[in-house]
Amino acid sequence: MRVGAHGMRPDGRAVRPNKLHIHGEPMIFETLVVGNLGSNCFILGCEETKEGVIVDPGAEADRILAVAARLGVTVRYVVNTHGHFDHVGGNSRVLDVTGAELLIHGGDVHFLARAAEVAVAYGLTADNSPPPARLLEDGMSITFGRHEIKVLHTPGHTPGGCCLYLAGEGMVITGDTLFAESVGRTDFPGSSHQALMEGIRTKLLTLPDATIAYPGHGPATTIGHERLHNPYITGVED
Ligand SMILES: [Zn+2]
Ligand SMILES: [Zn+2]
Repeated sequence: MRVGAHGMRPDGRAVRPNKLHIHGEPMIFETLVVGNLGSNCFILGCEETKEGVIVDPGAEADRILAVAARLGVTVRYVVNTHGHFDHVGGNSRVLDVTGAELLIHGGDVHFLARAAEVAVAYGLTADNSPPPARLLEDGMSITFGRHEIKVLHTPGHTPGGCCLYLAGEGMVITGDTLFAESVGRTDFPGSSHQALMEGIRTKLLTLPDATIAYPGHGPATTIGHERLHNPYITGVED
């Protein structure tokens, strides 16, 4: 969640639906902004096999499912970048309808059964999530059709926060770890700003500058832009 996150605008308009084939095979890729906190949900699919992944169905599960169906994507996996309710609140419905497997890092499993309770504390609603079928681990790969996601464990915002790197497409989904010119909140129990910045430095800033970063809220950016202009990285307010 990013209520009051540093400098982030809540408008987070959807990235235009597009088909990514920058480097590799053509891929279905669509962003939906869902729920009251404007969480970015991503639908990824292989153009050839139509196998796909939904990342962070935080709310509005039926709208997400309708878009996935329109795109012809067979959802194999639901992947959560982290366990906050605004990223997992639609898991239950999406999993029920698609029969997909849920993947989340072990450090954040404890959030899943408390999503509804925590959402209420924010005056919002979310469904509790069932437990994962498998756990994300740093360095593991998730394949769908001709595409591969590499999992980067980047704790700090939450203990089990992960970024999802698609080297073939030159893109990384950064959850609430890295935003356009901002970084994730670390004022929650179990958060660590030091760990967050360490993960950003060692796992995100080591990616090519042209890599497009898709945060959990707000607009997309690039690793190169963040290297130069993110005040949490440069130490300079510009
Ligand atoms: Zn969060
Ligand atoms: Zn969030």
